[in-house]
Amino acid sequence: MGTIRIGHGYDLHRLEALAPAGAGRPLILGGVRLVHDRGPVAHSDGDALYHAVTDALLGAIGQPDIGQLFPDTDARHESQDSEVFLAEAARRVRAAGFDVGNLDCTVILEKPKLSPVKEQMRANIARVLGVDVGGVNIKGKTNEKVDAVGEGRAVEVHVVVLVVGR
Ligand code: MG
Repeated sequence: MGTIRIGHGYDLHRLEALAPAGAGRPLILGGVRLVHDRGPVAHSDGDALYHAVTDALLGAIGQPDIGQLFPDTDARHESQDSEVFLAEAARRVRAAGFDVGNLDCTVILEKPKLSPVKEQMRANIARVLGVDVGGVNIKGKTNEKVDAVGEGRAVEVHVVVLVVGR
């Protein structure tokens, strides 16, 4: 087995109430649109799970973070589907001579429950990274009503990933 490297990613997006007319960004996590009355404040589509996985992959190979590669001052990333960021990070991992081993993600969100969509999120991440779905784990937690996350005003994600040299 080749060199093993670890990467860590973290992201948080503020969640704001969606206007009744449907204005504002819908809550999207792991490429899945969730039914919720709040959505992320973001320049891109605000997919905090894809963002944290992207940063974990980039961190594992010692490359610039998502904010440096895809600055929110760049109009091209306005409402961007974050799959683009994730796919680019995966491409960079391969180009650096590594394969993705496994990743473990913790999504902290008060509402809605993630269990109905967790498998779809895993499948999406596995597809974009080109890995077996067994290598992608997602855990959903609440923040026990404590602090901004627990009051439903933000979503927070932590990810660790191992990449293995070819
Ligand atoms: Mg983000």
